[in-house]
Amino acid sequence: MNQRKVRVRFAPSPTGALHIGGVRTALYNYLFAKQNGGEMILRIEDTDSQRFVPGAEDYIIESLTWLGIKFDEGVSFGGSYGPYRQSERREIYKDYVDQLLRENKAYVAFDTPEELDKKRQEISNFQYDASTRMLMRNSLTLSEEEVNTLIKEGNQYVVRIKIEPNEDVTVNDLIRGEVVINSSVLDDKVLYKSADQLPTYHLANIVDDHLMEVSHVIRGEEWLPSAPLHVLLYRNLGWEETMPEFAHLPLLLKPEGNGKLSKRDGDRLGFPVFPLEWKDPKTGEISSGYRESGYFPEAVVNFLALLGWNPGDDQEIMDMDELIRKFSLAHCSRSGAKFDYEKGKWFNHQYILRKENKEVAGLFMPVLEEHGIKAEASYVEKVVGMMKERVSFVKELWDQTSFFFVAPESYDEKTVKKRWKENSAEQLAELIEVLRTREPFDIEGTETEVKAWIEEKGYHLGNIMNATRLALVGEGKGPHIFDITEALGKEESIRRIQRAIEVLK
Ligand code: GLU
Repeated sequence: MNQRKVRVRFAPSPTGALHIGGVRTALYNYLFAKQNGGEMILRIEDTDSQRFVPGAEDYIIESLTWLGIKFDEGVSFGGSYGPYRQSERREIYKDYVDQLLRENKAYVAFDTPEELDKKRQEISNFQYDASTRMLMRNSLTLSEEEVNTLIKEGNQYVVRIKIEPNEDVTVNDLIRGEVVINSSVLDDKVLYKSADQLPTYHLANIVDDHLMEVSHVIRGEEWLPSAPLHVLLYRNLGWEETMPEFAHLPLLLKPEGNGKLSKRDGDRLGFPVFPLEWKDPKTGEISSGYRESGYFPEAVVNFLALLGWNPGDDQEIMDMDELIRKFSLAHCSRSGAKFDYEKGKWFNHQYILRKENKEVAGLFMPVLEEHGIKAEASYVEKVVGMMKERVSFVKELWDQTSFFFVAPESYDEKTVKKRWKENSAEQLAELIEVLRTREPFDIEGTETEVKAWIEEKGYHLGNIMNATRLALVGEGKGPHIFDITEALGKEESIRRIQRAIEVLK
């Protein structure tokens, strides 16, 4: 049906930090656009001046840039369909408001908030629609003269769409199929407000999708209830032929229980719901972000891609290029996707494993520096290679590897009690002599030689290994003993064992 060039848009309202669900919407739009050789637009929907939050627009751009979601046009990216900020398009919308009024598909209404409240009290389940509009103060009930006078006198008014009742409106959704709604349940939504001379979301959204030649509207499920109104608007504006196709994405659900994932779930369960850290400009409250929490952008993209879509098989690890190849709206689910935060960590772990040790070491360097450590890059790389399988985040490496960089200053009491035996000091003193002559100081050769010595002496292998670990690490953790000695080198290994003997004997 739709043979047009694929053009999609991500159209956030700058009302605060971009929620992770919004990030997923942007990602799916991007995957769809790139797969189809299409274009992706960033449009800022800032017609609700009440809810405008400074900094939100920059935050959105920085977030998506961090994640590798690229735009072809839009705010800060340029393009020939601009301006892309709705607040800069006032003049454009006014023409279409006038067109709808002229063609009797919309009307002017003067009802004040007080009058509306009064009606709500008089009529139960009041809705401004075909059944009530003739009881209200609007251009359908007032004479043209009265209307003109009221406007001239500076009375505030709104323009409402005139919904014809009792008509089935069909929304063809690429994920949900045909959704049919009877127009009688819809209200005469406000399209324009004289107070700020701005259209509301509904009108601006339709006009811009049309003028920007948007072919597909891919957005969150929360917008599905607005879709019938949007279909009617396309029709009333005479744009039915070029109406975009719709795809409403499933909700992101709480990790447990029912309902939509909220910021409170994140606070409660200790995970970010925002891509980047966000400081609320009004309250000063800081919310954590995926970036600052140590996530790789590739891991976040991979994780989000699978929240509401699957490739049709069991494959889980996919980079952006592969996602672009495999994505399809037909494989998006209709039911909500549970937000499994542990799975997010798992993805980050998988990406650490897949990254070159050199890259992970580069990311770990600043963490080491924070701890006052200056280490050789090749040494850090070696340690990272040994230990990265134990962590989900680069910053967790410090806890796992600090003993590679600083000798233990004290020894864990519990481990000492359990692992340091009466004859440990004596035996380790002998071990030092074995190590001293060992050449090369490699992993396997050293291990073989030490074990042969233990056997020859009839010592207890476990006891010696445990005491040595305590001496090298300061506690009972760490990788294979001879991996540690090899990394530390002969001199440092001997120094640590010697010190443990002095302190613990
Ligand atoms: N401005 C709306 C939002 O904040 C856009 C919805 C749409 O994509 O149509 O999500």
